[in-house]
Amino acid sequence: MRIKVLGCSGGIGPGLRTTSLLLDDEILIDAGTGVGDLSLAQQARVRQVFLTHCHLDHVCGLAFMADNLFDLIPEPIRVHASRETLQTLREHLFNWHLWPDFSVLPDEQNPLLRWQECAAEETIDLGEGRSITPFRVLHTVPAFGYALQTRNGALVFTGDCYADDGLWVFLNRLPRLDRLIVEIAFPDEQAALGHAAKHFTPELLGSELRKLEHRPKLFLTHAKPGCESRIERQCKQALRGWDYEHLKRGDTVGIG
Ligand SMILES: [Zn+2]
Ligand SMILES: [Zn+2]
Repeated sequence: MRIKVLGCSGGIGPGLRTTSLLLDDEILIDAGTGVGDLSLAQQARVRQVFLTHCHLDHVCGLAFMADNLFDLIPEPIRVHASRETLQTLREHLFNWHLWPDFSVLPDEQNPLLRWQECAAEETIDLGEGRSITPFRVLHTVPAFGYALQTRNGALVFTGDCYADDGLWVFLNRLPRLDRLIVEIAFPDEQAALGHAAKHFTPELLGSELRKLEHRPKLFLTHAKPGCESRIERQCKQALRGWDYEHLKRGDTVGIG
């Protein structure tokens, strides 16, 4: 299983794209502005999208991608998300006001997007020995992380999240955890903002990680533009002893 990082920034700017991960060229996990770097042919190859939550930096690319694909895809793209996330998307984005409802276009029988509600901790088979399991994380809106498993390894993407024992309880129950993609959006001096916006800061993530019984390699995402170098400096102290790297657009992360 190969994950290409289309975007992993907490905002926009030159060279920065917001969260979107492309799994084996056919599955998107989140659809932020990183989707805009895919060619039309690459967009048309996407069969499924898994959304962590409804925030714009994770879903705006889905709106534009759907609009590109009339006549280019043989069947609807399945968009998996929690009931709450789907409800927000349908009421507030794909509602014919902000954007057309692509779940009935070009027609209801064979639309561009098909909503697929998924439930926390119910595993979905992706074929070829791969599976994905959504799990609840703490954020300002209902949010999922996703655990990806193959025959030979396991990778977890937390999405946007904050300190919460439920996260570590879920991760500790996994039989193995080789790679953990986790967010740090703000530097330590913005811990109050992190608390309000439910995003990690380096010191907080470092202390929370003591609850994790696995020892995965860490990949850090979602730094707010302008905060990257301060976060990197603070992580040297806060994540001492961990094998980690700061994820960048264009990186690939693989398992088994
Ligand atoms: Zn968010
Ligand atoms: Zn975000």
